[in-house]
Order: sequence, then C-alpha cells, then structure tokens
Amino acid sequence: MAAPNSSDLFKKALRCIPGGVNSPVRAFRSVGGEPFFTVKADGSRLYTADNNSLIDYVCTWGPAIHGHNHPVIRESLALALQRGTSFGTPGPLEVEMAETLVEMVPSVEKVRMVNSGTEATLSAIRLARGFTGRNKIIKFAGCYHGHVDSLLISAGSGALTLGQPDSAGIPPALAAETIVLPFNDASLVREAFAKYAGEIAAIILEPYPANVGLILPEVEYLRELREICTQQKAVLIFDEVMTGFRIAPGGVQEETGVTPDLTAMGKIIGGGLPVGAFGGKAEIMDYLAPDGPVYQAGTLSGNPLAMAAGLSSLNLLRENDPYQALAAKGAQIAAAVKEAAESKGLPLQVPQRGSMFCLYFSENPVRNYADATSSQTGLFKKVFHQCLQEGIYLPPSPFETCFISTEHSEEDLEKTCQVLSSAIHAL
Ligand SMILES: *Cc1c(COP(=O)(O)O)cnc(C)c1O
Repeated sequence: MAAPNSSDLFKKALRCIPGGVNSPVRAFRSVGGEPFFTVKADGSRLYTADNNSLIDYVCTWGPAIHGHNHPVIRESLALALQRGTSFGTPGPLEVEMAETLVEMVPSVEKVRMVNSGTEATLSAIRLARGFTGRNKIIKFAGCYHGHVDSLLISAGSGALTLGQPDSAGIPPALAAETIVLPFNDASLVREAFAKYAGEIAAIILEPYPANVGLILPEVEYLRELREICTQQKAVLIFDEVMTGFRIAPGGVQEETGVTPDLTAMGKIIGGGLPVGAFGGKAEIMDYLAPDGPVYQAGTLSGNPLAMAAGLSSLNLLRENDPYQALAAKGAQIAAAVKEAAESKGLPLQVPQRGSMFCLYFSENPVRNYADATSSQTGLFKKVFHQCLQEGIYLPPSPFETCFISTEHSEEDLEKTCQVLSSAIHAL
C-alpha cells in the first residue's frame, strides 16, 4: 500500500489533534490551503509526504542554522544516546553547556536550562518579579515571547492603557499587570515608568522583533531602554530565543553592545531538540531556588540528548564562524526581491539582518506592529503559494521571518531569487 500523502495525513490528524497541528501557525491559516507533511529533512531541504523536495526558509522556525540533519549534530546525538536518554541527576554536558553560554553571550554570568523558549521567558519574568518585588511588566506590541499568560497580551485602546488578553483563558487581572507599548518609541516607556512609579519589575523585548515579520530598532532605542531600566531599578530582559546565535554568536547584545540583565534563549541552542535557557547577572540568577526564593524546576531540564545536540550546534558556530557568509546570502535574496518589486512598481520593504529577512508589501519602512499589520498581506499570500508550487518554502504567514542556513547552496539561492522574482512579477 502506498504511504499516506499530506492530504491523507491531515485528514487523520484533524480527527485527533486540535486543528490537525501541534502548533497553530503550521496549519496554514494565514495563507490558506492545507499544510504539507514532512517525512524527512536534510541540508537546506524538506522532503514531503507527496514526494516533493522544498528549499526551506523556515528552518524549523530558526533552530536549523546548520541546515537539517547536520552530520556533526547527528553524530553527537548518537554518541549521547549510547549513554542513556535522561539521568535526573546533574550531568557533565549541562556544565559544558552553561560554560559555553556564559562564554558566548556577553551579559550571561549564570544560566539555567529549560525545555522551550516559552519556559525561558516565563521563568525570566517570574525571576524579575521576585528580584524586584514588583508586579508589572512592559512588553511591546508585536513581540512574541511564547505562550506565557502574562506575555500573550495586546495593547488596549490607548498606548498607555493596560493590556487585554490575546487568548481566551487568561485572567484579565493578570493581563492588567502587563503594559503593552508600541516598539521604537522610548518616550512612551518613560511615560509608563512615570505613571506606574515603583511598580514595574521588567521590560521584556525581542531586541529585533522577528515574530511579526522583522522589525529593526532605531539605533539609540535599545540603549535608551537600558538607561531607563538602570535608572528605575527595573530588569531589562532581552528575549533572544530567535536572534541569539543567529545574528551573531552573542546575539543582538553582541551586535549592538547593549547588555540586558537577563536573556531568554532557545531554538539554536538545542540543535533541533526541545531546549530553552535563561541567564544573566549572577546577582539576579541567585534569586532562583535552591539558593533563593524564586521557584523554577524541570524534570527533563538539561536533558543529555538535548545538551549534546545543542553543544554541537554551538561548537559548529564557534568553529566555522558562518555569520559573514550567512549575511551575504541574506543580502543576495533581499537585493533580488527588491529589484523585482521596483521593476514591477510594487511597494515592498525587505528588512534583512544577517540570515533573517521578511517581505512587507508596504510603502514605508516598518517600525512597529501597526506598520507591519497595515502591509498588504494578500500579496504575500500569493507569493507564498507561487513559491511553494515552485519548490521554495517560505513561512506560511506574512508575519514570520525567513531564515537561511549554512547549507543553502549558491544553486539554492539562485533558484530562490529567480522564483521569488517571477512570483513578484506575476502579482
Ligand atoms: C520561538 C520564540 C519563543 C518561544 O519559544 P518556544 O520554544 O516555541 O516555546 C519565545 N520568544 C521568541 C522571540 C521566539 O521566537
């Protein structure tokens, strides 16, 4: 009997998994149509249940900076597997991982491992609240920090109103502890600190917001946030789950020289296995149990398989220093699509930093969530489907970032530029 194709699998999945998927964006609701199922991934490519091979610009939503199924990561996993899958006691790889993260990330003096980016941000928020003895936090519209209750909040109707839950099931009282502000405007942050004097525990942000497309901060903005937090004795949290080890070995904090107090990490540090981490100043991290009063724990935290895969992912970055080559690939694609849009007379913004980029069909540069969501998403959907048909997999939403891996070859890039350009011409 023939193996089930994507459509067969999706029908079965719909019967036993809500929406047929284990994470909502995989369901293709933002672009329409049915998702494809992947049976194998290798290098720059996904191989689907329909016998298609796709050049992948999702890269498992960021982790696969070395491409899929990298032989070095696979070997280290195979080796770790021989020694057992979980110990429930401290193990040597956890120490090596902590030392590696402390070495690579400028602001991290101590670090604790968790199992996802969501756990990292939720733990960092609790720690900031415990450390400062304050309850309120500031987040920015369009920044995604995983599905944490306090962080799944949108702005209220005015810029300085308290947040509204983004999801059913979040108590309004909890949402009221989150202040949501537009990104790239430090004066509103100062106003919030004036209005809620002595109540704000932390500012949390993606230093380069990459979950509503890709938004780049104005040069001084991150520095101002640092200054405000220092003055107000609030904790500055960079969520570098996406940008860490992707933009530079030490993330945005290395690229910009702005150091947060705490950093949330994930994605690349797991080498494709489920991992997160949060770390920062020893003075703050020592507030965690068992030394301090802030409780945080995990049965599988520091899991030996995840540590092995993650360490080889990080060591590959340190050995190969792929950042310049990755940035050149990003620039090549950005230039090609910009040129195609210009010759077609279409307004298109292509923010790009290193191996991350996105397409906004929009007249003006995108500075915040409101700018991003006013772009013409219908045009992106058409480009998405055209590319998919031609063997190029872009993220299935106009508000996700595209990722390039070290395994995307010159041939892959040329094909991508050509397919993207003709998809834009066909609009
Ligand atoms: C992906 C992501 C998260 C959530 O990580 P999960 O592992 O999906 O829980 C948090 N913050 C940012 C910036 C992310 O991109």
